Amino acid sequence: MNDWHNMDCVDREELAELREQKLLNTVKWAYQNSPFYREKFQNNSVTPEEVKELKNITRLPFTTKSDLRESYPFKLAAVPMEQIVRIHASSGTTGKPIVAGYTKNDLVEWSRLVARTCALAGVTSRDTAQVSFGYGLFTGGFGLHYGLEYLEATVVPFSSGNTERQLSLMKDFQTTVLVSTPSFALYMAEAAREMGLDPKKDYSLRLGLFGGEPCSENMRREIENQWGITATVNYGLTEVVGPGVSGECTCQEGMHLHEDSFIEEIIDPATGESLPEGESGELVLTPIFKEGFPVIRYRTGDITRIIPGNCRCGHTTRRMDYITGRTDDMIIVKGVNLFPSQVEEVLSGFKEVSPHYRLVLHRSDKGFVKDVEVQVELTPEGFTDSFQELEKLEQNIKNRIRSTISLAPRVKLMEPKSLERTTGKSRRIVEGEDL
Ligand SMILES: [Zn+2]
Repeated sequence: MNDWHNMDCVDREELAELREQKLLNTVKWAYQNSPFYREKFQNNSVTPEEVKELKNITRLPFTTKSDLRESYPFKLAAVPMEQIVRIHASSGTTGKPIVAGYTKNDLVEWSRLVARTCALAGVTSRDTAQVSFGYGLFTGGFGLHYGLEYLEATVVPFSSGNTERQLSLMKDFQTTVLVSTPSFALYMAEAAREMGLDPKKDYSLRLGLFGGEPCSENMRREIENQWGITATVNYGLTEVVGPGVSGECTCQEGMHLHEDSFIEEIIDPATGESLPEGESGELVLTPIFKEGFPVIRYRTGDITRIIPGNCRCGHTTRRMDYITGRTDDMIIVKGVNLFPSQVEEVLSGFKEVSPHYRLVLHRSDKGFVKDVEVQVELTPEGFTDSFQELEKLEQNIKNRIRSTISLAPRVKLMEPKSLERTTGKSRRIVEGEDL
């Protein structure tokens, strides 16, 4: 193991002390220097002195996406803008973008984090890595670029687009690492074949680092099979720094979190209460190294959990599980949190039904969801006249949902092609009275 792994193999007691100290400094720094946080702390009648140890973090208010939008463009800054050397922003399809400003030190720290993420995935200074993320306001391209350079790998900053040329250079440069979105990696494999090339034989790729969009296990295996590589996923978001929050090692059993640089919390998205280790909830992150635009207790909206126990690879840092959903999609039914993605996963296990489904919500007089009906289309092959068979299938789906999410919704099988098709994001959730 080279030096890149030191911080991920640190003694856990030492790590706890380091985290605590860095958190206290961050809280003080934000309060003293960021107009946004001074105001937020004051509005919540809390001072930095109340945070004496790590667990006191829960006394501090959360930061939400709308807070960051309202602080547009530079209200979050904790240094004079002349000390900011780079600005990134989220593309944001609605409302104002979210802005992140970096000091020179922030950029060094960020590069180091990304370098560690790449090292965990098996990248070394002997690798040649092609970055096929777009270079621009989006943090993916520049984030991976500087992290890989920091690791002293050879970087090919291709950016996105121009697939044929990407494929030619990748072959000629004997590129060993591909950095892209998972869907682009699949697309490239297909394009290579169309050019008469064999992705496995004609290329030198051995590793893929994927991020920027969710990657299902099926998709990962598909990429690995197509290219003959090890595909790892990593996680990050512009709001807290960009890529470099966590990433997989080659065990592919969850993403190692850089705990010396981020304080992670898992909360119940409905109440904001902390959840016990191992339980699934909303990820809240506090970066504890940033000077420029500090962020405290940022509610990511991503649903995950901290995986109990140590990884087989020998690194001591804790792992977060893959993102299973977004809080924006959460429905609370009789106190149970339900995500459309969970239902979708159960349905995908039944070959008799199609991916077309919707959740119909029935509410009580007070507006609480008291009942959910899952409407799902049968596939043409799954369609049958036998009432008993259909009833049995409904019951099976219902049982499977109950055993995964402790909720027994009604299940209604629909004829093939009977649910409304919409362009763009389909309407998965409808209110009962709308029907
Ligand atoms: Zn590991």
